[in-house]
Amino acid sequence: MGSGKVTTGSAPFDFQGKHVTVAGLGVSGIPAAEALHARGAIVTVVDDGDDARAREQAECLRALGITVRLGDGATLPEGTELIVTAPGWAPGKPLFQAAGQAGVPVWGDVELAWRLRGPDAAPWLAVTGTNGKTTTVQMLAAILKAAGLRTAAVGNIGVSLLDAVLGEETYDVLAVELSSYQLHWAPSLRAHSAAVLNLAPDHLDWHGSMAAYAADKGRVYEGNQVACVYNVADRATEDLVREADVEEGCRAVGFTLGTPGPSQLGVVDGILVDRAFVENRQKNAQELAEVSDVRPPAPHNIANALAAAALARAFGVPAQAVRDGLRAFRPDAHRIEHVADIDGVAYVDDSKATNTHAAQASLAAYESIVWIAGGLAKGATFDELVAASAKHLRAVVLIGADRALIREALARHAPEVPVVDLDRTDTGAMLQAVTEAKRLAVAGDTVLLAPACASMDMFTNYNQRGDAFATAVGELRA
Ligand code: ADP
Repeated sequence: MGSGKVTTGSAPFDFQGKHVTVAGLGVSGIPAAEALHARGAIVTVVDDGDDARAREQAECLRALGITVRLGDGATLPEGTELIVTAPGWAPGKPLFQAAGQAGVPVWGDVELAWRLRGPDAAPWLAVTGTNGKTTTVQMLAAILKAAGLRTAAVGNIGVSLLDAVLGEETYDVLAVELSSYQLHWAPSLRAHSAAVLNLAPDHLDWHGSMAAYAADKGRVYEGNQVACVYNVADRATEDLVREADVEEGCRAVGFTLGTPGPSQLGVVDGILVDRAFVENRQKNAQELAEVSDVRPPAPHNIANALAAAALARAFGVPAQAVRDGLRAFRPDAHRIEHVADIDGVAYVDDSKATNTHAAQASLAAYESIVWIAGGLAKGATFDELVAASAKHLRAVVLIGADRALIREALARHAPEVPVVDLDRTDTGAMLQAVTEAKRLAVAGDTVLLAPACASMDMFTNYNQRGDAFATAVGELRA
């Protein structure tokens, strides 16, 4: 960690009369355009799309006096002094190349929210990582609430940061989920404390390389005031802490599933303990909660709980609130969701395991699994996942467009495991997949939907895929 460099945060930005281009209509673009317009900016919204929905949205903005240009998100509107982009727009887009040449700064929705905060705004506790962000942020919000603080889980999760920052509600602290895209476009963000949960290749087509992806994740530590929370089991997260410029006195705090060293949170005999935010951390430890307080008590989820606890403790939350918050926490749907037990076999929906890193964590959580996998691979390879998980596999049922990639990895690393390749990419394939899985499972097994792939080849999204699984399981039971 580069110490001693005191960051002073961003200068207030005067939008009055500034020509601001908002790139991308949609969830973040519309409120951004409205907020900028309300502050006196001369706003132009650009978008590649030009369908009926976009036209309807454009009409609403035009009624306010905002210029909207549909069907051309590539050309930089003349006179642009600042671009505020939807987080998903990739840095390689021609619009940003033009902005770079013209020396026009580019902010994302998070940067805009950060700049629009009032002087007494609530500090941010930020969470990023390849997997576990939503869960950790929700656990964190539950812990902060249990401590009696006014808070909300916001960011890349339901409530946008703009809404949180501009809304009526007053907060003491915000639990903020940030994606690598959002961090890429948030140059002056300075969190009170932040955690990078883990780092595995994902979205590399967007970032261009693993190094660029990691660097964007690492931005979350820049300017942290109290703690940079890292994963002891994932060296890359610790490296990012070391590279960050933080406020004087900010500490590196690790979390581990093992026994914690000083300045770490970890697990001892089924108890989550804190050896970071205690007096005399060389000798003392504070009991926070029991492993059984964490739902579901899968190893990766205990890691999420420790990260959430570390951020809450960095904010000064008492140990009791960590326990109460974790007990109050309910995971979102499709994240290791127990759907049913039929004939001694558990059916678990982890449709949210849309990449190999997530699926690997999920497969590590059960002894003997009939694994339902497949979908859109997004450029991923499956060798590492299959090699690491082979010992847990009773059998595999494959669905979806890129299932051959998984089948080939299974042939290389788990040739003895029976594989049923359904050769189907229609929505109805889920019922057949679950039926096959039931045939292959024996009492004590878990039938686990952890596709390691995106869902859009067969379903609208991972929610629909998970719902299809639950419906199919329901039909088995009928
Ligand atoms: P995100 O918001 O980062 O997508 P979620 O909390 O929604 O994360 O979890 C997504 C999926 O990632 C889960 O369904 C689970 O399979 C997996 N997962 C959750 N936490 C972790 C973790 N700490 N390490 C690896 N995989 C995880």
